[in-house]
Amino acid sequence: MFYRNSIKLAVRSYSIEASSKVISTLKNPSLFKTSGYINGEWITGNDTIEVHNPASFPDPTSKIADVASLSATDYENAIEAASNAFATFKKTTGRHRSELLLNLYQLMKENQDDLAKLIVLENGKPYADAYGEITYAASFFQWFAEEAPRVAGDIIPSSNGSNRILALRQPIGVCGIITPWNFPAAMITRKLGAAVAAGCTTVIKPASETPLSALALAHLSELAGFPKGVVNVLPSSDAPAAGKLLCEHPKIKKVSFTGSTNVGKVLMGQSSSTLKKLSMELGGNAPFIVFDDADVDKAVDGAIASKFRSSGQTCICANRLFIHESVYDEFSTKFTEKLRKTVKIGYGLEEGITHGPVIHSKSMSKVRQHIDDAVSKGAKVLLGGSKLPEIGENFHELTVLGDVTSDMLISQEETFGPVAPLIKFSSEEEVLQAANTPDVGLAGYFYSTDVSRIFRVAEELEVGMLGANTGAISEAALPFGGVKQSGFGREGSKFGIEDYTIVKGLVLNIA
Ligand code: NAP
Repeated sequence: MFYRNSIKLAVRSYSIEASSKVISTLKNPSLFKTSGYINGEWITGNDTIEVHNPASFPDPTSKIADVASLSATDYENAIEAASNAFATFKKTTGRHRSELLLNLYQLMKENQDDLAKLIVLENGKPYADAYGEITYAASFFQWFAEEAPRVAGDIIPSSNGSNRILALRQPIGVCGIITPWNFPAAMITRKLGAAVAAGCTTVIKPASETPLSALALAHLSELAGFPKGVVNVLPSSDAPAAGKLLCEHPKIKKVSFTGSTNVGKVLMGQSSSTLKKLSMELGGNAPFIVFDDADVDKAVDGAIASKFRSSGQTCICANRLFIHESVYDEFSTKFTEKLRKTVKIGYGLEEGITHGPVIHSKSMSKVRQHIDDAVSKGAKVLLGGSKLPEIGENFHELTVLGDVTSDMLISQEETFGPVAPLIKFSSEEEVLQAANTPDVGLAGYFYSTDVSRIFRVAEELEVGMLGANTGAISEAALPFGGVKQSGFGREGSKFGIEDYTIVKGLVLNIA
């Protein structure tokens, strides 16, 4: 069921470049790697994963590469290599690790254009967003380079006058890292930066849709002078087996996962066999609240940035837009008007494109399910509403739905696609209750000019991160993470390194 209406967004219709042509234009062709990376060696494996450009899939020219899919034996080898490397890497100084991270930061900046192109190809996001992702991703290496020399313990007074208690902060060991496709570079660097700063070594399983960015990072880590075995990157077509192996392996001391809540729960269950330390960055269902005292124009800009970045495929995307009844008409008119004027949907390497495709048909099905369900229950299509087969299978209009209610799927689940549901509310109490209903709590946003309300609402919303009068919150300095079933642990910021360390208590008797 498609909804055609008069309010359409600008789309581009043209033939999308063959992926191989884009690859051939990379300034640094050595960034294009299709083998896994273990202990400083490039490993081809017996199996492969087909990586496609979501913008042109299923056209035959959409294929970017056959990337090696590594086996359980390869994973065992990588864990062994990381474990051996840890024996010496843990003894390096924070200053030394800082230099390695700064080298890597610098290399990412030098290769930013090529890295961004790889992201456009495998993920579909527009070039400007991909370029921005590399800035964001590299900033974690810079940030943790600054943190590495400052990983310190403490000295604590003992109740026994002859004793001194030292709290030693040490690296935890080999870390298993599992990442999603929506930020193919940043979701790795946010973990890898902290792990390396602490003195840990890593075995990384990137998402099957986007292994090329991960392998390019592995190559840059080699150029940056990382010792063999510190960074290992193993694409795998059998994610459940790779995940189980990482979670159950006794030599892996910590698993850090970013992805869906359901997979997070599976990994947590598997990790119980070794009582592994875990970080879980899982799904969200962010409320975005516009109160009656809000600056509506500012809220419109924030909503566009938060809801539609990467075509709605970020974990901190606004998922439910609650608009006070007194500003509902003004907000919905300005929101749809601005989108209509500024959005250009199409292929990410084309000039001026602001929004790309969704990643694959599974994502498209969820987008369609949420729109169809909402419309069948009385929601109105205020903008968009349809697929865009004239550009490609995975393209969908940015869509705004009005008169959305709590019985609709879209207000209950994370859409992870380009649909903004507008929900009317009349009181602060009512909206807080609705905002806190989901069993997940990653990010939240609200707009108000009343300082008392800003503190009241910030303290009441059950989320790990908040934007008050802003829709753009991500940066390396932010403690990133969720509450409830959005997971636990914090990445980035001064807290991010804690997850990669242990505190060892040493009681020293000086009598
Ligand atoms: P996903 O299906 O959970 O996949 C994420 C990663 O887990 C991929 O590498 C995937 O491998 C792997 N995986 C899948 N099934 C597995 C299993 N049984 N055992 C071990 N690993 C497994 O998530 P997604 O659809 O790619 O990503 C979207 C979700 O991630 C959304 O819910 C979003 O909110 C969340 N997310 C959260 C954050 C955060 O910081 N909180 C950030 C970004 C995204 P394959 O690719 O090989 O299947």
